[in-house]
Amino acid sequence: MSIVTLTREGHIGVITINNPPINATSHSVRAGIVDALDQIDGDPAIKAGILICEGKTFIAGADVTEFGQPPKDPILPDVIKRLEATTKPVIAAIHGHALGGGLEVALGCQYRIADKSAKLGLPEVNLGLIPGAGGTVRLPRLVPVTEAISMITSGKPVSSTKANEIGLIDAICHGALLDAAKDFAQTILDRDMPVALVDRIPVNAPDSAEWDEIIASASKKARGQIAPVTAINAIRHGIENGAEAGLLFERTKFVELRDSDQSKALRHIFFAERSVGKLPELDGVEPATITEVGVIGGGIMGAGIATASLLAGFDVIIIERNEEACANGRNTVEKHLSGSLKRGLINQDRFDRLMAALSTNTDYAALGTADLVVEAVFEDMGVKHDVFGKLSEHCKPDAVLASNTSYLDINEIAAKCVNPGRVIGLHFFSPAHIMKLLEIVRTTRADAKSLATAFAFGRALGKISVPCGVCDGFIGNRIMSAYRKHCEYMLEDGALPHQIDAAMVAFGFPMGLFAMQDMAGLEISWATRKRLAPFRGIAERYVALGDYLCELERFGKKNGLGWYRYDENGKAQPDPEVDALVIAESEKKGIARRNFTDDEIIDTILSAMRNEGDKILSEGIANSPDAIDVVMINGYGFPRHKGGPMFLTRK
Ligand code: NAD
Repeated sequence: MSIVTLTREGHIGVITINNPPINATSHSVRAGIVDALDQIDGDPAIKAGILICEGKTFIAGADVTEFGQPPKDPILPDVIKRLEATTKPVIAAIHGHALGGGLEVALGCQYRIADKSAKLGLPEVNLGLIPGAGGTVRLPRLVPVTEAISMITSGKPVSSTKANEIGLIDAICHGALLDAAKDFAQTILDRDMPVALVDRIPVNAPDSAEWDEIIASASKKARGQIAPVTAINAIRHGIENGAEAGLLFERTKFVELRDSDQSKALRHIFFAERSVGKLPELDGVEPATITEVGVIGGGIMGAGIATASLLAGFDVIIIERNEEACANGRNTVEKHLSGSLKRGLINQDRFDRLMAALSTNTDYAALGTADLVVEAVFEDMGVKHDVFGKLSEHCKPDAVLASNTSYLDINEIAAKCVNPGRVIGLHFFSPAHIMKLLEIVRTTRADAKSLATAFAFGRALGKISVPCGVCDGFIGNRIMSAYRKHCEYMLEDGALPHQIDAAMVAFGFPMGLFAMQDMAGLEISWATRKRLAPFRGIAERYVALGDYLCELERFGKKNGLGWYRYDENGKAQPDPEVDALVIAESEKKGIARRNFTDDEIIDTILSAMRNEGDKILSEGIANSPDAIDVVMINGYGFPRHKGGPMFLTRK
């Protein structure tokens, strides 16, 4: 069957695209559209056209297999020009997603309608690009310029309701899309042809002062990413110099960005995220069906994991130590879900149903029907053994048992369980209902079905699941410990905390290491260091500055003092007392302090990450360098547009 077909239904020519899975703008689709338009124009019996797609979605992007290939005519910008030049009106009938080139095709059509669950967007910035087929020129001539800027610079799609509000579509339709499109066609047959978007004037164009503000705010938000600001410049160019000049400018910038390091990095991570959780050894392994999820411990992590599981549609039971802790767990989940309700992510009805799907209990016997259980109790091997002993006793023999431990040896936890093959690690990140990353830790005895079930669970929760082996800190915390150590060495060698943090922020991290420690609170890691002190090697270099801060009761942001001093608005200020402490420590140790440039600071951090990453790979803890990049970007604030520490330092 052809990828693009034209059928005549009365006075209407229906162009149908069938290019699964996403109806990408492959060469055959582009050529097919042009061919169908020629036929429609040449057929006097056809009065209007409909452009519609088979399958799950409208055109949802470009054909990735054509990336890096020489362009083959007709290229997309020409297809869209051809759509604009048609003599009969064409209606884009959108379902699923109209993304990137897909939305640009729809912008070339004379009308757009969408079903109520459709999403429309220009996500090119996510790959370090700008729209390359007229999106920056046509969109601001259809919707208010500020809305166009917001869509293009955020890369986030809008719902059909929003699209209708801002004028991006002409109608939202209910029921069968093709029927609705045909009905809509009847209403426009007598109208004049709409003016092509390139010939319209921009909607509410900003004045020069407003442009300055828009650009300043976008630059700040972009934190070093080039594409969002380039997109604004392209929009502005098209507005101030006319559509033709705008199209040319857009194309030039698109090509420039396509060859940029940032776009290469963003494309790398885009593909890495999609491939990292695919394990060939699990091909064909059927995961167990999950209906009911048990969560042990309703603290920070447990409540987050319970919330994520509820949102994914599972029944959830939280087991806690006593009634009060049960109530606290339930309240925390309720607070998380109320947040989603307030932000409009769920409605009241769904909120009520989710809360009804949650139960709490102090008796492990209530876990008899759970299909998967995640333990999130205190980080203590004795407590974990106790919990897994009870799980072995009360859970179904094939229920998957997972630990959310940050550092403990899950092989040791599994060893004492009935059926250790079903014990795995599910290492969530805080807040667990928001953070996308999930490290799935395979114990040495983990069986394929339990692993497949864990990955299916991660998918259901909408997480990016990264497989990893058992070691101290798994992938992310282990790399973080390594680079933290080197940051502490730099303090003794001559750098100051705020200087290291500033270099990290300038590099693209949302915050520096020391500000992050202040946010998390310094006393927990202090307690861990004290606990581990007897096991520390004598030859190991140890930086005691964090301990000194705690001894001075500087526990971080929550008590206003840590590596920084916090003002009344909670804003971090470098503290001369801390600087003095750092300098005195170097003197005490006889270290001659030296200057560090920002580049040296970043190089030190990157090589620490790289070295630990190499060790992790050689030990088989991570499957690939990509897995490490995915973890550091999604769990530790590594700037996405740099592609991750392994990509950036690739040899
Ligand atoms: P938390 O102190 O907030 O919560 C622990 C909860 O477990 C408490 O509510 C406690 O009452 C409950 N609990 C303790 N023993 C229990 C038992 N025998 N049966 C039932 N409930 C019991 O701790 P947290 O921060 O949620 O951490 C939990 C686990 O998750 C730890 O292993 C931690 O290392 C790990 N983790 C924490 C984070 C984080 O950022 N906080 C991130 C990843 C992993």
